[in-house]
Amino acid sequence: MTKMCEQISFEDLAQQFGTPLYVYSQNELSTAFSRYQQTFSALKPLICYAVKANSNLSILRHFAQLGSGFDTVSGGEIARVLAAGGAADKIIYSGVGKSVAEIEYALTVGIKCFNVESLPELDRINEVAQRLNKVAPISLRINPDVDAKTHPYISTGLKANKFGIAMSDAERAFVYAHSLPALKVIGIDCHIGSQLIDLSPLIEACERLLILVDKLAQQNIVLQHIDLGGGVGIVYHEEQTPDLHFYADELTKLLQQRSLNLIIEPGRSLVGQAGTLLTRVEYVKQGEEKNFVIVDAAMNDLIRPTLYEAYHHIENTVFRQPEILVDVVGPICETGDFLAQNRMLAAEQGDLLLVHGAGAYAASMASNYNSRCRAAEILVNGKEVKLIREREKIDDLFANERALL
Ligand SMILES: *Cc1c(COP(=O)(O)O)cnc(C)c1O
Repeated sequence: MTKMCEQISFEDLAQQFGTPLYVYSQNELSTAFSRYQQTFSALKPLICYAVKANSNLSILRHFAQLGSGFDTVSGGEIARVLAAGGAADKIIYSGVGKSVAEIEYALTVGIKCFNVESLPELDRINEVAQRLNKVAPISLRINPDVDAKTHPYISTGLKANKFGIAMSDAERAFVYAHSLPALKVIGIDCHIGSQLIDLSPLIEACERLLILVDKLAQQNIVLQHIDLGGGVGIVYHEEQTPDLHFYADELTKLLQQRSLNLIIEPGRSLVGQAGTLLTRVEYVKQGEEKNFVIVDAAMNDLIRPTLYEAYHHIENTVFRQPEILVDVVGPICETGDFLAQNRMLAAEQGDLLLVHGAGAYAASMASNYNSRCRAAEILVNGKEVKLIREREKIDDLFANERALL
């Protein structure tokens, strides 16, 4: 059976565009987005796609056309959204380290809300807004201290994390924000972690934030929205499918009697499954203790396996038997350069492998380490194929450098 992305074979794409290659299915992007819209229809949330998961302009444009807002974490991401045709008044700006220049830019283009993560950030946004004669709409990111039960590197809602304002300081922080003249306090937010399989910690986080919302209302600080961040996981391996209906139903119970708008910021769950990384086998090498399938994609194309101990399913487009135990590794000079370890796989030189679940945190985390050109990206819609990012060329690698000595 020929392996296909929509109506095009992966092998044809690899021959036309080369490897490594990121391939995205437009249909899967649309399906993931409408699944959120349908499941949450009772609450009509503003869905703010988390740009960092995959920030390609065409993907942003596609979500913008479906009505999406955007969660951003830098001036660069805000610029991408605008370049892609996204609406400024649907942009949320998160992150612990917003610079003065970034705040100025966000105020100038007129974003929907700053998700503020500390008291000094409140002061800085207030100062910049005053200087520009503007009022900055803000939300405070509260750390609800719930355990997201995910990998430590992608857990963000615990006391020990750098993100957000502690629950115990939250009320004071809101009162302080409310007192600053150039800020308008419009919301409360959290984001407790990523790749959540059990979604009940998200409900618990919402419950904790709502207690705070009520306390604030008693002090005449009335919020317009609650933003629960992203975090819904996807199936990479043998995880259970996260129950989006459960999440939506529980939220509906908590929020339907309130005049509080809901914002959610899904990233991975909108793009992860839509993407496949295509890579060609360069060599099969028998080591002393292990067998290695050496491919032309590497940790600079997909860092998740080595950074998060993440599992990506790898499939050979050529049917072969028998499978043997291998590591699938790239050409980079690092022991950490692997796409899979201790995997049963049959592969030979020249075979095209599919690395699944590569739509999120793959291309957007790519680097030029070992002076490797970043791969091209392709968007497939039925039989139609669009090159949405050209493969980098060798000259691009040192275009900004000078050999001065
Ligand atoms: C990364 C991030 C998201 C998206 O997380 P996913 O797990 O990809 O859904 C949403 N909000 C914030 C603030 C983030 O940092």
